[in-house]
Amino acid sequence: MNQPLVWMNGHFVEYGSAKVSVEDRGFQFCDGIYEVVRAVEGRFYGFQQHLERMRRSLHSVEIEVLMSDSEFQGIADQMLAESHERDATLYVQITRGAAPRSHVIPREITPTIIMILRSFHPVDESVHSNGIKVIAVKDERWARCDIKLTGLLPNILAREKARRAGVDDAIFVREGWVAEGTSTNVFAVCNDVLVTPLADHRILRGITRDAVLTLARERKVNTAERDLSISDLKAAPEVFLTSTTMEVLPVVEIDHLPVGTGQVGPMTKRLLGGYRDVLHGRAAGESNAR
Ligand code: PMP
Repeated sequence: MNQPLVWMNGHFVEYGSAKVSVEDRGFQFCDGIYEVVRAVEGRFYGFQQHLERMRRSLHSVEIEVLMSDSEFQGIADQMLAESHERDATLYVQITRGAAPRSHVIPREITPTIIMILRSFHPVDESVHSNGIKVIAVKDERWARCDIKLTGLLPNILAREKARRAGVDDAIFVREGWVAEGTSTNVFAVCNDVLVTPLADHRILRGITRDAVLTLARERKVNTAERDLSISDLKAAPEVFLTSTTMEVLPVVEIDHLPVGTGQVGPMTKRLLGGYRDVLHGRAAGESNAR
């Protein structure tokens, strides 16, 4: 695919001519939400879960969208077929719409709905085999990180801080408690239990997070969703991050100190392998959301 495919408010639009109004509230106020779904070997993975999370985000910010799940699915399938891509990402961005700037939500407003299908370029495999380095940063985001808002500036600034520190990414920490990565969820092995922070308002409940928890439970790994302190994270023999695009990503250094031996650990390797089996439809079981 030379250029991403774009569907916008009911029509397919040339990538170069796809434009939104200067009055779009997504631009004016970050008044919008989004979703990212991945297609693997010609099929979307976990489309329904992504749609459900999108509906939860829309409900939380009181944006009403009349399109049905099957309409979203139909357009997404059509885009994937037209792209001839086997591996792609689909971004669905929904803003409240365009109207003269006002803090008061206009009564009559039509949401802007944009779907962008891009080819998927995975990171080099060495990233997964060697793991990444992260720093802990203060989580100064708002109190509703469970909503997948388009407003990602704190995440972008944290990522920039990591780059300046010479590492790959950052982990948000709120009052000593681990929240999540800048675009990932966090897992640690603590006393043979796979621990990840509870999916409350402090984090985005990742679709990959849930798939990895299910996978771990199927494999008789003890799991816990609970508060995780930054000191427990630093003392853990294994730490990894999860997301739609990064899958299961080993962390080998936090704040310039090695995690465990500084090598990718056995549990992380097993879960990365298992998750990829699920993603590629090679696994049976509940975790297979294809
Ligand atoms: N947390 C944040 C802040 C994210 O942006 C993402 C990526 N969308 C995730 C977690 C992981 O979510 P998922 O597994 O659904 O991609």
